[in-house]
Amino acid sequence: MTEVIDGEAVAVEVRSGVADCVETLTDAGVKPGLATVLMSDDPASETYVSMKQRDCEEVGIEGIHVDVDADAPAETLFETIDELNHREDVHGILVQLPVPDHVDKREVLRRIDPEKDVDGFHPENVGRLVAGNARYKPCTPHGVQKLLAAYDVETEGADAVVVGRSDIVGKPMANLLIQKAPVGNATTTVCHSRTEDLDAKLASADIVVAAAGIPEFIGGSMLKDGATVIDVGINRVDADTEKGYALVGDVDYESASEVAGAITPVPGGVGPMTRAMLLYNTVKSASERHGIDVAL
Ligand code: NDP
Repeated sequence: MTEVIDGEAVAVEVRSGVADCVETLTDAGVKPGLATVLMSDDPASETYVSMKQRDCEEVGIEGIHVDVDADAPAETLFETIDELNHREDVHGILVQLPVPDHVDKREVLRRIDPEKDVDGFHPENVGRLVAGNARYKPCTPHGVQKLLAAYDVETEGADAVVVGRSDIVGKPMANLLIQKAPVGNATTTVCHSRTEDLDAKLASADIVVAAAGIPEFIGGSMLKDGATVIDVGINRVDADTEKGYALVGDVDYESASEVAGAITPVPGGVGPMTRAMLLYNTVKSASERHGIDVAL
């Protein structure tokens, strides 16, 4: 019987824990604050940012939002980041990606104070993650780690396959899975578009994390019987719905759920966890900056 890994339910628990920590901090005179910065006219990016602001409100984190004109020079964005770096009421800074082509994304990530880099993308934080001393684990792989823990998925000694090697999902996910730590110690293979014989790799995987951004391309016939399947993908496909599209993962849920031991749905799997872990990192930042212990 396949177990459905309910990301929404686990995210509710994470958010509730975060809300308790916010209360502890607020009682001690510190209101955690998360600043979002948007330099884009893309409606999807606008939606992501407003969702993050709503999430903050729900758990009592102060949401601060700054719009930067998409045509403004890069320096305008850098000055905005500098101001937020210096603000005492801002504990986390998130610049919504992608930024316009005339802005160097790497420069943006380097500009954010690493102590406020709650996405975990600053090179210092990437280095710390790789060294096994993470300050902030990037939200999506951290969320996956929490899901694996919540469902008692044994990672120690397991063969894990991560499909995708992006800086925000695939690479940090693989780094977490190989670490000598709880929800780690997996023997991890990272696959990408140049991987030969992906099918053979998947066929022997106890844990599959799919993050390629290709709709439903991993089917049940490619999976090992009883595998745990974590579908990170969020892909829009044309559909006969009110909006004219539907969201699907990288895994063909119907066939995969006949083979998998446990599987995340899309939506309702990894997505809610990604959002919850951003709140978690913001509270962690506020707690550490002010030296106030919270039960995260
Ligand atoms: P990227 O496009 O940055 O990376 C995709 C990766 O998949 C690349 O490493 C690419 O390889 C690899 N890939 C492409 N084709 C294949 C193939 N045929 N076989 C194996 N690997 C392949 O995507 P992201 O990591 O940003 O996102 C991945 C998916 O996850 C997307 O659907 C995105 O929307 C979703 N997402 C979901 C989140 C959530 O909260 N649930 C959060 C972030 C992303 P190469 O490097 O060789 O090009």
